[in-house]
Amino acid sequence: MAYSYEAPVSQSLFDRASVVTPGGVNSPVRAFRAVGGTPRFMVSGAGPYLTDADGREYVDLVCSWGPMILGHSHPEVIAAVQEAVSRGTSFGTPGEGEVALAEEIVARIEPVEQVRLVSSGTEATMSAIRLARGFTGRAKVVKFAGCYHGHVDALLAAAGSGVATFGLPDTPGVTGATAGDTVVLPYNDLDAVRAAFAAHPGEIACVITEASPGNMGVVPPADGFNAGLKELCAANGALYISDEVMTGFRTSKAGWYGVDGVRPDLVTFGKVMGGGFPAAAFGGRGDVMAHLAPAGPVYQAGTLSGNPVATAAGLAQLRLLDDAAYAKIDAVSAELRSLVGDALTKEGVAHTVSAASNMFSVFFTDRPVRDYEDAKKQDVFRFTAFFHSMLEQGVYLPPSAFESWFVSTAHDERAVERIAAALPAAARAASEATA
Ligand code: PLP
Repeated sequence: MAYSYEAPVSQSLFDRASVVTPGGVNSPVRAFRAVGGTPRFMVSGAGPYLTDADGREYVDLVCSWGPMILGHSHPEVIAAVQEAVSRGTSFGTPGEGEVALAEEIVARIEPVEQVRLVSSGTEATMSAIRLARGFTGRAKVVKFAGCYHGHVDALLAAAGSGVATFGLPDTPGVTGATAGDTVVLPYNDLDAVRAAFAAHPGEIACVITEASPGNMGVVPPADGFNAGLKELCAANGALYISDEVMTGFRTSKAGWYGVDGVRPDLVTFGKVMGGGFPAAAFGGRGDVMAHLAPAGPVYQAGTLSGNPVATAAGLAQLRLLDDAAYAKIDAVSAELRSLVGDALTKEGVAHTVSAASNMFSVFFTDRPVRDYEDAKKQDVFRFTAFFHSMLEQGVYLPPSAFESWFVSTAHDERAVERIAAALPAAARAASEATA
């Protein structure tokens, strides 16, 4: 595919990066490999906008893959960070900020009695799995195809996000022994979960699921799916782990738990709770968390866990996320979904706009998408054409057909108008695209 626009400064930065960094990026999906073209090197962000190294401004519908729910450079978050930085950047001791952040999380999500702070969503899921195994004395982990839980060895099998984007069945470097304890099942299929418990009696430590998946595109749980998982786990002595790294503090004040009310045994968080800094967490039932060192025998640690600058940013962001903020994000998301749907319908492009609360994505198929196999059947080449047309017109979408789009409280009328103005040409590009 030829691109009619250029990004010379980004291109030269990417050339330099490719010499010193594998693939030129520090996280694979950033490289634009699925859509082609030059990844944009961003230099600043303000509200709903990002500015790249060539001086072009974009309406941002990625929001750093979720965290920037108040938009970029929110003045109160920046002020909290500046205040924290002025007192030092890391002490390696306990500090009040981490207590306050943990209290805020516990106050928002009733089943979470205790939390442990870490630095990334990957660390959170990895630690939650270890804790579940330590608590139950069992080895096996059930996960669902198309769900991404970070690059934890045991959880990379049939994963979503970049693994889905690049169509990788498995990752070299993950040993058979590690992967052998992972049972991968189709999403939204309770019968498959029932069968797995029957096939491995007394062996399954936990079922981990994205609370509402966003890493194969947005594929919400079918009615009763999460409740069914919880019931099956309880009946079989396994823990139900709800991965809320993406949905947490985004889909409602209490994340997806606030939407479906299914009580997890353990929950993982990241993204929004860090306010754009590396902060994440896992938490849940007090009797399970009590197994964690130094209270219990399951070891887990981190030099920068509960970092004072990261916790200040996260706390400032969470404190601004009140009911009015979620109402605003939900409304912008609904408006964008209808604008995108209308534009694609007008051009006769087969599509499904799939939403879970304010998270949404567009599948270029009109067949229902209930799991990863369905998601893979979309016309990805149409997304590619749509993506590049939007980019050229100054709208930054996730560079993959298998990712959620994210909005923020900063997406105001002007930003929505700019997106609306770009949609007709992008829909036309999608309709004219060929495989
Ligand atoms: N879990 C989910 C549901 C995610 O979406 C992600 C990242 O996208 C992770 C875990 C991993 O988080 P991180 O990238 O912070 O390691």
